[in-house]
Amino acid sequence: KKRNPDEKEFLQAAREVFDSLRPVFSKHPEFIYNGILERITEPDRVITFRVAWEDDTGKVQVNRGFRVQFNNSLGPYKGGIRFHPTVNSSIMKFLAFEQTFKNALTGQPIGGGKGGSDFDPKGKSNREIMRFTQSFITELSKYIGADMDVPAGDIGVGKREIGYMFGQYNRLKGGYEAGVFTGKDPNHGGSLGRKEATGYGCVYFVEEMLKEKSNSFKGKTVIVSGSGNVAIYAMEKAIELGSKVLACSDSNGYIYDPNGIDVETVKQLKEFDNKRIQEYIKFHKGATYSEGCTDIWKVPCDIALPCATQNELEEKDAAILIGNGVIAVGEGANMPCTEEAVLLFQANGVLFGPAKAANAGGVAVSAMEMSQNSMRLSWTVEEVDEKLKLVMRNIYESCHNAANNFGHPGNLVVGANIAGFLKVADAMVAHGVH
Ligand code: NDP
Repeated sequence: KKRNPDEKEFLQAAREVFDSLRPVFSKHPEFIYNGILERITEPDRVITFRVAWEDDTGKVQVNRGFRVQFNNSLGPYKGGIRFHPTVNSSIMKFLAFEQTFKNALTGQPIGGGKGGSDFDPKGKSNREIMRFTQSFITELSKYIGADMDVPAGDIGVGKREIGYMFGQYNRLKGGYEAGVFTGKDPNHGGSLGRKEATGYGCVYFVEEMLKEKSNSFKGKTVIVSGSGNVAIYAMEKAIELGSKVLACSDSNGYIYDPNGIDVETVKQLKEFDNKRIQEYIKFHKGATYSEGCTDIWKVPCDIALPCATQNELEEKDAAILIGNGVIAVGEGANMPCTEEAVLLFQANGVLFGPAKAANAGGVAVSAMEMSQNSMRLSWTVEEVDEKLKLVMRNIYESCHNAANNFGHPGNLVVGANIAGFLKVADAMVAHGVH
């Protein structure tokens, strides 16, 4: 706290991990002796840089770029790039810190990083996005590489932006380095199944939690916040598994459809037409739109999947969900539930899947994209989906077993933190003090 006084989100993420690790240190004194806790909370490096670019009127704009290379004990730094006006060093550090443990949980050889800019893509033309992205990557290209640091998409960064970054990187380097980015278009170097992976993976994880209680998605009602990449594919898979999605949102408000959200309409509006979620009601009789995104949690449901952004679900929202009989919550977004909300869910017996486990499917398929790029071949969507299911089942089991072994049966927050930490900490001890 003394070292990072203004980094609210980073302190929140670190506190949650520290709280979970108490039972680990009595069994593993070597981690104390090796200063693991002090080292694991200090990023390897934080890079910040100016991004100057010209808008369509010819005016020069300046944004700030970030890349946090947090920990590479298990592999090259790996984590998304976020373009959103709220981006700052605390948010970047919290995301990179979480990413380190999440990536460890996947069992794949990837370290943790995150990057982005306070650039707001909303309302920008395609050419402005390209010019900004090229300027951003011109600086970042000095610090990344297929064996060094492999960025991907996140909020505000999809395959279009990754395409511009990839093109500019190769132009600067004068070659073709397929594995330097993931989240590329499957027609040129990307993996099939990547765009669906985080949302599908989240639903697979929640299905594992439900299975443990002899339950499933079948016949359940579901609320999904957001209507971006993660939300859309979480809805699609939840529907495929036999549930009815009643509501989803964007940062302005939410839609409620008593007949079940039609995910194809949401895809058309958000993935292709760049429209607000409000437009949905024009196409579906009986559906309603309400201003204010947080009121979505007032819609009664069996399963809640917060898939929008950090701290979007607070204690008061958790209380409403519990009052309405929610049985399971899976975090599709990163840290969408506040600490108080998580504690309330757990105290009331709600099954809770924490982000670093429940949304690890995206980065898991990103690591598969790296493998395919290295092998210069591509897997079918069915192959990728099978591997994704297996990864999510393994993550669930690791979290479940770690929670049991360290005296917190059923607490997947503790389980995920411990299982991820042990992998990273073991490697750090093996690699010596630095
Ligand atoms: P997108 O940019 O595709 O979508 C974000 C969505 O959330 C948009 O619909 C946005 O609406 C909405 N939103 C933003 N703020 C709020 C809010 N306060 N309340 C309700 N809706 C809001 O991002 P992604 O889907 O890629 O990412 C969502 C979350 O998942 C992030 O936390 C991200 O870090 C995490 N994540 C993403 C992965 C991926 O593979 N994409 C992997 C792992 C985690 P609007 O259009 O109004 O801004």
